Amino acid sequence: MSFLEALFEALSAGGTEALTYVAAHALTGQNLYLHNTLTKELEPFRPLGKKVLMYNCGPTVYDFATIGNLRSYIFADTLRRTLDIFGYEVKQVINITDFGHLTSDADEGEDKMTKGLRREGLELTMQNMHTLAGRYMEAFLRDIEAIGVNTKTITFPRASDYIPQQIALIERLEKKGFAYQTESGVYFDTAQFPEYGKLGSINLSGQQAGMRVEASGKKNPQDFVLWKPDAKLGWESPWGMGFPGWHTECVAMIFALLGEHIDIHTGGIDHIPVHHNNEIAQAEAAAGGQFVQYWMHNEFITIDQNRVGKSQGNAIVLQEVKDKGLDPRALRYWYLTGHYRTPMNFTWEALEGAATALKRLQQAYTSLPKGEIDHKFLESFFEAIGNDLDTPKALALIWENIKVLNQTTLAEADKVLGLGLADRKVKPSDIPVEIKKLAEERESARMAKDFARSDELRKKIEEAGYEVKDTDSGPKLSKK
Ligand code: AMP
Ligand code: ZN
Repeated sequence: MSFLEALFEALSAGGTEALTYVAAHALTGQNLYLHNTLTKELEPFRPLGKKVLMYNCGPTVYDFATIGNLRSYIFADTLRRTLDIFGYEVKQVINITDFGHLTSDADEGEDKMTKGLRREGLELTMQNMHTLAGRYMEAFLRDIEAIGVNTKTITFPRASDYIPQQIALIERLEKKGFAYQTESGVYFDTAQFPEYGKLGSINLSGQQAGMRVEASGKKNPQDFVLWKPDAKLGWESPWGMGFPGWHTECVAMIFALLGEHIDIHTGGIDHIPVHHNNEIAQAEAAAGGQFVQYWMHNEFITIDQNRVGKSQGNAIVLQEVKDKGLDPRALRYWYLTGHYRTPMNFTWEALEGAATALKRLQQAYTSLPKGEIDHKFLESFFEAIGNDLDTPKALALIWENIKVLNQTTLAEADKVLGLGLADRKVKPSDIPVEIKKLAEERESARMAKDFARSDELRKKIEEAGYEVKDTDSGPKLSKK
């Protein structure tokens, strides 16, 4: 839809959401299209109301976040920055899973928090779980801040602070006939929700075949736990002591903090088949209507084609990036070189390449003049971003135009990229060693009155994008 068509529609509709939409156009001159996992299509973004309500599935804080997990939050952050710059007011929530459910999302395997406690030689108690989670939550916040996420604009609820809301949600489902109790817990009855699995990526007939249906007393293999009893640990509830199910936590916090119908929900692709299908089932069974308008998912980071993850034993964390002397924002730059819906294979060489590119960009930024905003450039830049966050294209546009851009325009583009270009000063020491060497050679040639050679070297320096000026205090190098 063109800007004029949008304006016309807004005027005839007269609603605040339409006006918000037009305001967004006015800022960037572009439409925002997002890929929706629910429809598998690129759709023009239209918020439900005046504020965009966005929820990003957050970490289980039992260990440090991996470079796989961090991609999820850079994707969410790029989306947030895009919404901001397109003129929307955004309410953003990232949950913190801070207690075990003593069951994984597939109702099998060991709970992550329990694993974390054992790793650190701590006894399995509620207090220890809370303390361990607190420690890794802080580490998580530090990590995402280091890669350019502004945590002050996001709400980070801890799941353990929302137990009454989770219990209330389960009771609501029970009253509506969507839940049943067995000896092993309270379950969501997926047979009562005909649209179950509509987000896709789920094989209903063969799903978890042979899973412990008999043992749990579940009616259908895909039924999932809403309340898991535990004799020793957890919270009191109408179904005895225990823990709410993991899928329940997200819905209860969304209802409490954002409302029953929200605009955007994100996560990694691994969450599509079970976790997010289960969130939809609970939310839509409880509240009716469409729970989320736009479901968005990022692809995996892999190493040697294996997904990066703790259980895969190939987890790299941000501290390792720092230990190698690399700028954490280089990781952000590297993520941005791939589209969020494309898998990316991590190598240290690739990250080093990103660090070099980022350094060049910082140097270029420092040497550029300030000036008027280049609207033509920003139009094509935001067209790329508005096309489902095409960051690789947006970065390519910057490099293609770097010689003619000014600082003001680049700072505007960086509001979406989050590379912190305007936050840092590039010192003269950031001029590459090769260039400094050329300048020294030129100076020696000049002193020796070999002007042909010194001109040749000046040319080389200029071709590399730098210039050398002879001043009273000696030659001065700068970026062109
Ligand atoms: P978790 O703490 O396991 O719930 O994961 C936090 C977020 O990271 C979720 O949105 C996951 O889907 C995502 N995630 C986990 N592993 C990867 C990976 N290798 N690449 C990209 N995203 C991932
Ligand atoms: Zn979730």
